[in-house]
Amino acid sequence: MTLFLANESVAGDDALPSTFELIMQDRMAGGFKPAAQYLVNVICDSYPHLASSAPVKHFHESYALFKLLVERYCLAHYDSLLSERFYGIKRIEMHGKTTKPLSERTRHLTLLCNIGIPYVKAKLDAYYHSLVATNVGHRSDEEDEDVIPNQDEPSKMEMFLRQWKQLRIWSQLKKIFVDMYPTAHFSYEGTFLLYQWMYLFGYTPYFTPFLRAMKVAFARITPHDISTFDKKRLVQRANILKELDVHPSILNAIRKWIYKATWMTLDHSQTIMIFTIISFKFLEWMYSDMNPRPISHGNGNCPPPPPPLPPQLNNSAIPITSDAQRCALCNRIRTNPASCASGYVFCYPCIYQYVNDHHECPVTRLPCDVTSVARIYEDATP
Ligand SMILES: [Zn+2]
Repeated sequence: MTLFLANESVAGDDALPSTFELIMQDRMAGGFKPAAQYLVNVICDSYPHLASSAPVKHFHESYALFKLLVERYCLAHYDSLLSERFYGIKRIEMHGKTTKPLSERTRHLTLLCNIGIPYVKAKLDAYYHSLVATNVGHRSDEEDEDVIPNQDEPSKMEMFLRQWKQLRIWSQLKKIFVDMYPTAHFSYEGTFLLYQWMYLFGYTPYFTPFLRAMKVAFARITPHDISTFDKKRLVQRANILKELDVHPSILNAIRKWIYKATWMTLDHSQTIMIFTIISFKFLEWMYSDMNPRPISHGNGNCPPPPPPLPPQLNNSAIPITSDAQRCALCNRIRTNPASCASGYVFCYPCIYQYVNDHHECPVTRLPCDVTSVARIYEDATP
């Protein structure tokens, strides 16, 4: 455990990660939830029955629980949250000039500050927006005065009035909440921004007010840290396996196998995650509207397709005429042209009558009915 104590220079400038790294990791941490929400939406699009399942219905809660498990693991093994681990940053406790590794209490506080408080904040944000949408804050005061208690009414009425007063208290509380919340929100976000600026100019080693309250600073993970993390992890795992080997049984063999599989997944979680993200983005790009399949317009290297084969007319009901202006049914110059489903054009009365009688095209003998006979509004005379 000497690795953290060796990091004396944290009060100096070498070991402190830059503001921009921290902002990037902050943004990355903020991006996990929308990414998860997006993934859930995509899955629910393909499997709509999942949309009514409890984890999807209570997405915020399920996400918070999942995050709690992941961050708990990261804090226990690397003294950093998932996004911080990506950027090679760890957390250390500041005790004056010296630093110490995170205590169990600080780990719990870190989880509270990074999962509990943002969850409550998100809920309050949603509540505020729902109240604003129902216009609670801007309701006129007139309606508060329009019911006057009547002394002669029976107790039932009094009950009603009591309930109504309770409701009024609620509505007043809601009104106060709507009035106050923007200020509270601004102060909350503003404090974070202030700390980021102070950190940027070196006035404080704490990047956020939460870190200030916990006296926890960020430091870079050194190669020495990594080897120590690995050693610690291997020792823990060896101990677990040893315990399981004390009482060999089928159940313990299965547990051993599950442990090993889990560890292997966790060890390669970063690679798996990056690979998953890249594959997912690639698939999304391939099937998105932004990347339509190239359409050949015949002006590229592709040769134009051959003309369609002439229709097989051996079995025609009528011979086709070589004169394009002539109706094949009445053998006169077409008047009032109309086509049937096959595309051949005749006089409207001729084709209508024919299709009505035979339910087929006279030239191709393809089945069609009178609804497919379409008038063509052009002058039939040459
Ligand atoms: Zn005709």
